[in-house]
Amino acid sequence: MDTHDLVVVGAGPAGAVAALHALALRPGASVLLLDARDFPRDKTCGDGVAAEVFDLLDDLGVTGVRELGLEVPMLRLRTPGGRVAHRAAPRPNRVVPRRWFDAALVDAAVHAGAELRRHRVRELTDDGDRIVLDGTLAGRAVVGADGAHSVVRRALGGPAPRPADTAVAIRGYAPVAADAETLTIEFAAGPHPAYAWSFPVPGGGANVGYGVFHRDGAGSRAELLARLAALLPGQVPDPATLRAHHLPLSTSPRVQPDGRVLLAGDAAAAVNPLTGEGIFDAVASGLLAGRNALRGAGAGAAQRASMERAFGRHQRHVGALARLAVRPGFLDAAIGAAAAHRTVFDCAVRLGLGRGTVSPAALALVAGRLPSAVIRAHRRARGGAVR
Ligand SMILES: Cc1cc2nc3c(=O)[nH]c(=O)nc-3n(C[C@H](O)[C@H](O)[C@H](O)COP(=O)(O)OP(=O)(O)OC[C@H]3O[C@@H](n4cnc5c(N)ncnc54)[C@H](O)[C@@H]3O)c2cc1C
Repeated sequence: MDTHDLVVVGAGPAGAVAALHALALRPGASVLLLDARDFPRDKTCGDGVAAEVFDLLDDLGVTGVRELGLEVPMLRLRTPGGRVAHRAAPRPNRVVPRRWFDAALVDAAVHAGAELRRHRVRELTDDGDRIVLDGTLAGRAVVGADGAHSVVRRALGGPAPRPADTAVAIRGYAPVAADAETLTIEFAAGPHPAYAWSFPVPGGGANVGYGVFHRDGAGSRAELLARLAALLPGQVPDPATLRAHHLPLSTSPRVQPDGRVLLAGDAAAAVNPLTGEGIFDAVASGLLAGRNALRGAGAGAAQRASMERAFGRHQRHVGALARLAVRPGFLDAAIGAAAAHRTVFDCAVRLGLGRGTVSPAALALVAGRLPSAVIRAHRRARGGAVR
């Protein structure tokens, strides 16, 4: 049996960062990084990378990734009701094509001592003091960072994500951006929150797409593209670059049992339910997994506690806001307040792209614009305020 201290399944941002952090804490550990595909590889994504991601990579000593992307200072949000907030983000975010971003993190992990191997994992069995993968490989700990359709999550008994906790999005590359200085977001009318985006990419053009925050509300590929065309006319993606994928939202039931198997990133259903942002959550949860994987049989329990400490309050706040966002009038109130008040805009960006929580001042400014029916319905549903 080919046995390692740590086997990481999936070499996206969550997996590469888990490998990197484990090696930073225990240089010389044998870390095997498995992926079903060769790198560099495309990943279906909007390529928007929050400023906070680079802070985490700086702390890990991974340099040069910022420079692969385009700095985009502005953010523009528009509701179907016509409210527009167009401001400089508290800190500039970046657009980094995932083909480059992910390959750079994998290179850093290999440079730190991880062994990268192409292998699609199909089966895990618990052998007591180690986890066996596909009958041939074993790890004293395993990090499942194998994305939205995680085999590792299923092996742990994680339930299939509910439609309401799964977003669906399609993306492609267009020859021009809606605005070369701005991350442009156009919200759609309809029963489920949804938006179209145009994010300028390095070298010109844009990553454009459309996402719906409910699997059953997404419709066909043709319908997704029709809604993108209606919201962002002129942003026409090259058909050869179009790909759609699921996003497991952090409103999903938590899955992290005790034991030697840990989950990170999309496999842990860490995607922000307000924005579909998942790279920050993948990197942050990958960092925790890399540290906790070194705890042997206590790894799973340590990861569960770390995830709650790091994300619990944030996820409760964005979950409550995601429930409010389905009510007519909420988005207009929130974006209207963000247009009028810098403090609301900055709070919204931190909630949507990082680990922010709702500030009482921002909440009061949004609530002042809410139709009273929305407030009453939310109080009834929650039985009180969010903690
Ligand atoms: C259309 C779309 C747009 C998005 N836009 C943004 C955005 O602009 N900004 C943002 O922050 N987030 C965005 N997201 C979310 C973001 O892409 C994910 O949250 C992020 O990629 C999660 O990283 P990860 O490392 O957990 O998983 P992934 O990046 O999915 O990596 C998982 C890896 O596991 C490998 N793998 C899968 N199964 C196996 C297996 N059985 N064995 C071995 N390897 C396996 C895959 O090949 C892959 O390399 C978007 C998502 C979609 C679908």
